[in-house]
Amino acid sequence: MITFLSKQYIWLYFKYNMVDILNFINGNFAPSIHGNSIPVFAPSTGKIYARLADSGKEEVELAFNAASNAFESWKNTKSEDRFRILEKIASLIESKHEALAIAESQDTGKPLWLTRKVDIYRAAANFRFFATAALQFSSESHFMEGEAINYTLRRPIGVVGCISPWNLPLYLFTWKIAPALAAGNTVVAKPSEVTPYTAFLLAQICQEAGLPPGVLNIVHGLGASAGKAIIEHPGIKAISFTGGTATGAEIARIAAPMFKKLSLELGGKNPNLVFADCNLDEAIETSVRAAFTNQGQICLCGSRIFVENSVYEEFTSKFVEKVKALKTGNPADESNFLGAVVSESHLQKIASYVELARSEGGTIACGGNILHPECEFSGGWYHEPTVILNLNHTCRTASEEIFGPVVTIIPFEGEHQALEFANHGRYGLAAMVWTNNLQRAHRMAEQLECGIVWVNCWMLRDLRTPFGGTKDSGVGREGGQEVMRFFTEPKNVCIKYN
Ligand code: NAD
Repeated sequence: MITFLSKQYIWLYFKYNMVDILNFINGNFAPSIHGNSIPVFAPSTGKIYARLADSGKEEVELAFNAASNAFESWKNTKSEDRFRILEKIASLIESKHEALAIAESQDTGKPLWLTRKVDIYRAAANFRFFATAALQFSSESHFMEGEAINYTLRRPIGVVGCISPWNLPLYLFTWKIAPALAAGNTVVAKPSEVTPYTAFLLAQICQEAGLPPGVLNIVHGLGASAGKAIIEHPGIKAISFTGGTATGAEIARIAAPMFKKLSLELGGKNPNLVFADCNLDEAIETSVRAAFTNQGQICLCGSRIFVENSVYEEFTSKFVEKVKALKTGNPADESNFLGAVVSESHLQKIASYVELARSEGGTIACGGNILHPECEFSGGWYHEPTVILNLNHTCRTASEEIFGPVVTIIPFEGEHQALEFANHGRYGLAAMVWTNNLQRAHRMAEQLECGIVWVNCWMLRDLRTPFGGTKDSGVGREGGQEVMRFFTEPKNVCIKYN
């Protein structure tokens, strides 16, 4: 089994060795019961570099049994001790930062500068933040004058399921697992089969940190088999899921009649509203980042840009100039802002939306093509950052989630129309507003139909704040106290004393 290698050897290792990504059940690493595996591709080259345990119902049952056996003891572990273990996991992630960043870049195709700066840093921050939450989490009491006192017990739920997507693999996997463990639950988790590698490395870290066997179990495999088995398992009482809206609907269909607690973080198509009174250069700079970071594969990306008429021409020409200057290619080359998109099928989906935009009458201001970089990257999955103009805000290109490096820019006149355009469509995850008018900022924030509003910024995250969306972007909130409440069961105790 591959363990952590130093920076200079890990690229060579990937070049010449096939990695076996194993399940982690009851503290042990093992292949799938029937020995089946799924190929894992490096998006930057299009080559297979790993075999993934192809698990299903049987492995989920084993994982559930391990988690169930570990629950009683983990639930009663003192919060100081849970804190120490989770904090140790955070420190170990930090000490292996470079190896994890390389592994994440290899697995996803995203630039190494980004996995270094964002993904791995945040995975450690998630564990550290929720380690302290284990110490600080408290519950309410309600006093009835002269009569009684109510207090709310918040106890862990039991065995919970955590399922995560491919776009921010370790970042989002840990964003679920850390609070679930901090609250005293035991976990059966499944990372995306497209990008499973850092979850496997995390299992090694948890072992090294002394997390007791069975407290965290990681079952790898396809959504339709391993994922579905977690959803359908009658003993798994809560599901925290991040992924596509269609998958979320399917999960809700199965889990709702079983009365499971559900947290669903789903798709988005986020509006970015630029008013003429803003600092335009700052808005352009950040909007380029918000559109194309991680090849546009962040649920929070601002892919629907709406610009007030009077600055539309200036914004668009400067924005397009900046996008033309972005380089795409080898994820390890620091000068590339964009790396590869995650899979061949995703690349084709992105390209099909560019075709759709053309047929809807859009003008491609820049980009629009699949890219074939040179040498060993020629088989990888790259797409030019693409800007599309002259579309209506209701057309499919401007309303459906593409989840790639493609944005539309559409002019608007006044606040009323800005809101109409922004609130159009099925999604309601995040929005950005650029303005120097304080009253307007508050008015827009209040009326935008979404869970997160950024004014004059993007992706500025405080882990204490509620995170999640409205409409088809999901149900429930993650982060801070919200997620600690999700992962606990409240029980009111009323004591009459008079
Ligand atoms: P996906 O829905 O295809 O898969 C997500 C996870 O669910 C994977 O682990 C997959 O194996 C599993 N899965 C698939 N079918 C399942 C089933 N029937 N039962 C149980 N599990 C199943 O999503 P994806 O393509 O991996 O990720 C991209 C999507 O995730 C985009 O729509 C993006 O907007 C969304 N996303 C949302 C957020 C958010 O916070 N709202 C964050 C990141 C990504």
